[in-house]
Amino acid sequence: MKNNSPGEVQDTDAPPPSGESVLKGIAASPGIAIGEVLIVSDSDSRLALFDVPTRSISSEEVQGELDRFRKAISETRSEITVLKDDLAESGCIENANIFDAHLILVGDEALTREVTEGVEKRHLAAECAFASAVLHFVEIFKAIPDPYIRERASDIVDVGSRIMSHLQDGSTVFLESLPGQRIVAAGELVPSDTAKLDRENVLAFITQTGSRTSHTSILARSMKIPAVVGIPNLLEQLKPGMLIAVDGTKGEVILDPSPETLNRLAQEDRAQRQLDSELIGESSLRPVTLDGYRMELAANIDSTVPLADICRYGAAGVGLFRTEYLFMNEGHLPSEEEQLQVFRHVIDASGGEPVTIRTLDLGGDKVSRLINFKHEPNPYLGMRSVRLCLRFPELLIPQLRAVFRAAVYGHVRLMFPMITSMDELEKLLQLIDRVKSSLKYDNIPFSDHVETGMMVETPAAALMAEAFAEKCDFFSIGTNDLVQYTMAVDRGNENVAYLYRPWHPVIVRLIHRICEAAEKAGIWVSVCGEMAADPRYIPLLMGLGIQELSMSPRSLGNARRMIRALNYLDAEKAAHQALRCSSDEEIRSIFHNLTRDVIPDLNL
Ligand code: PEP
Ligand code: MG
Repeated sequence: MKNNSPGEVQDTDAPPPSGESVLKGIAASPGIAIGEVLIVSDSDSRLALFDVPTRSISSEEVQGELDRFRKAISETRSEITVLKDDLAESGCIENANIFDAHLILVGDEALTREVTEGVEKRHLAAECAFASAVLHFVEIFKAIPDPYIRERASDIVDVGSRIMSHLQDGSTVFLESLPGQRIVAAGELVPSDTAKLDRENVLAFITQTGSRTSHTSILARSMKIPAVVGIPNLLEQLKPGMLIAVDGTKGEVILDPSPETLNRLAQEDRAQRQLDSELIGESSLRPVTLDGYRMELAANIDSTVPLADICRYGAAGVGLFRTEYLFMNEGHLPSEEEQLQVFRHVIDASGGEPVTIRTLDLGGDKVSRLINFKHEPNPYLGMRSVRLCLRFPELLIPQLRAVFRAAVYGHVRLMFPMITSMDELEKLLQLIDRVKSSLKYDNIPFSDHVETGMMVETPAAALMAEAFAEKCDFFSIGTNDLVQYTMAVDRGNENVAYLYRPWHPVIVRLIHRICEAAEKAGIWVSVCGEMAADPRYIPLLMGLGIQELSMSPRSLGNARRMIRALNYLDAEKAAHQALRCSSDEEIRSIFHNLTRDVIPDLNL
């Protein structure tokens, strides 16, 4: 079986049996699934777009909101006209005619009147007034007995979602309930959709966009849903309801699989499951090398990970709790109390081991519909993470209060993501002081024993690691972003996935530098990016001086097997050799030679 490193695309293998065709993509989440495909066009779940939090406006803002609405109408009209012309040009006159009906709906007088009234009389922001008008009209249409007219409700939703996107810059799709067990195919799945996938019914998902370190793929792995992403022209090759097979381990999608292929996949599936249960059986074995070096193994969690998995897979606590998903899943922003309850559950599930809570890291591909921040042209370089939190401290303060309160119940660590400058860290540390004083003032019990650290995931932080180490109790290296920002490669873009290279000498040198700075300051270093979850990188990370690896619970078994098969001294020697290399191929081959005997025993 051929395997991929993060971001690599598969080569072609042997030709498929006749009648079936094989689509190659990026292996995003292991496992095999066979079933009927459900092609998700955005319209299936667009109703969710109209579920917006109420935002009131003042009398002075009325005119501005009406203008915004008119602008959205005119942008939608131009957009539909272009679509219609394109289709007509390509000869699809029948489909192009649908857009005539849509163009009439865009300027619908009754809808416009209702929105205007909502803004003028009820002082609602344009998107709220519009959402409520659309939902009202959809209700009316759905109640009409004539099936043809009733179906027009979907046109309203279609057109309405285009207008809504112009009002909001949102294009979220929700897949909370599926009609039965299906393999979901989509052009794109954003993390907020993925987190809400109907887990009972999604056998696997396949997408046209994405790469191995996009958050959607990370979620697929933590949710144990097989997934293949970055499949060129996927949607053009599927027919609704067709039988397909997904091999998330190899990164393949097989259309109309032959009986031999189904047999082969069933066998491979059995073997993978067998190995999975063997690995779970080893979860109480100590992650110690043959020569006695202990590597801590911790769990990465988010709101989709069953908390029982932390102990089930033998994690020594939580090395990364991605708390931003709490801000993406609910219909409202989580309150301090709600966050406290979640943190307490995680602490309880971690059986006395440390729980590292990362402050919310929204932005990039993790967008919350609850936070009304305008769309940015380069979201990964924009208002992401602590930048958003420092701009809107009201988002962060309740979370910090919940963290310090939760620390009364267990061993809690606090970690800030995406730091680039010292002043950011200093402001965050000041905020912590303010939060503690306010808790004291409010007479609310909290613990002062919270180790505070930061993620090193930008080249800026890595190169300044010595200075940062003076202010931190620990570092956790976010290799997903460190590679992205160092290599100038969007981690979610399948077109440049081949340039996403964790073996690159510069990445090795940056990690080395971070470890050296940490050692000098006497603090420890963890890796919580996806490099930690791929056992091929473990000897490199170990040899460079990493003390903890944190990953999705189900990856822990492979990591433990790899660690127990290694000699620390060999890993250290190989890492020093790697530091002198100038190409990733050289580095990869050093470690390939070191681990090739172990790899066949792993579930990769
Ligand atoms: C990382 O960047 O490596 C990381 C662990 O954080 P995230 O994937 O959530 O950006
Ligand atoms: Mg990151």
